[in-house]
Amino acid sequence: MEQLVAELEQARIGRVRLHEPLAGHTTWKIGGPADLFVMPDTEEQLAAALALLYRHGVPWCVLGRGSNTLVSDKGIRGAVIKLGDGFDEIRFEDDTVTAGASYSFIKLSVMAGKEGLTGLEFAGGIPGTVGGAVYMNAGAHNSDISRILQSVDITWEDGSREVLGNEQMAFTYRHTILHERRGIVTRAVFRLEEGDRKEIAAAMATYKDRRRRTQPLQMACAGSVFRNPPNDHAARLIETAGLKGLREGGAEVSQVHANFIVNHGDATAEDVLTLMRRVQQTIEQTNGILLVPEVLLMGER
Ligand code: FAD
Repeated sequence: MEQLVAELEQARIGRVRLHEPLAGHTTWKIGGPADLFVMPDTEEQLAAALALLYRHGVPWCVLGRGSNTLVSDKGIRGAVIKLGDGFDEIRFEDDTVTAGASYSFIKLSVMAGKEGLTGLEFAGGIPGTVGGAVYMNAGAHNSDISRILQSVDITWEDGSREVLGNEQMAFTYRHTILHERRGIVTRAVFRLEEGDRKEIAAAMATYKDRRRRTQPLQMACAGSVFRNPPNDHAARLIETAGLKGLREGGAEVSQVHANFIVNHGDATAEDVLTLMRRVQQTIEQTNGILLVPEVLLMGER
């Protein structure tokens, strides 16, 4: 690993850290260390890092804001790539906005509203990066990324780059082609429409207010833990089964939103996983439905 670090530093691929604790990189505030933590600032640095990782046989994964991810307590063997400040950019042109993959999805929505562009209001409460939102086809309030995305710049794992159009992303519910083919989103272009600034701000305020009332926003969490099953809501099933407040170590099924698991401060990934299994078992027994996780599990078990 030391040899690889030396080569990464020699290639000037941005910041590189060893044994980086990942709890500080996830909204659940849970997760052991990454052997290697790499923060490239340009597509060239990203491609160079991928080439070196490949040459050294080191596996990698990519992390955005960690707002949909449960990192295991043992952490991640290999490298975690987190796109650096060089990807934290935004540019408006007519009715399109181009955003770098590490740009905040919430900030993007606010900035679009200020420009008088409508279409991104739904993103006002989704606390991830643009890259993570594209990967997840993030959505809320009857909209999602697929409705507004024009194109995505992707660096594939062999370092080659490609621009994919909306129809090439194979968008479905919280799913994209990137779940099947390993690539890193570096930039995305969204096509919006001209709108009324006041109406946009009012819609965003309504959504924000609704979230404040229905989600445990003061607690460390990762949003909805389970995907909604067809024609139903995971939160409704969990609440009806009386599981709100169910606790395992420092993790608890939120009293505010049944499909959220909150960290009381000392929860481990194992606590969360045990709680998730208990919820799944109960819902399977009572409703015959196997809840499928929406949060993504990363790291050594
Ligand atoms: P991460 O959690 O870091 O990563 C998620 C996945 O994306 C991982 O597989 C990762 O490898 C991949 N990824 C990250 N960056 C890139 C990249 N540049 N290129 C390729 N792959 C990448 N989600 C919703 O959809 N709707 C909601 O309403 C919603 N509400 C939430 C509310 C709260 C309070 C919280 C904490 C979360 C909520 N979420 C919601 C979940 C989460 O915010 C979204 O899924 C978000 O899009 C994840 O972005 P991220 O940058 O945090 O991704």
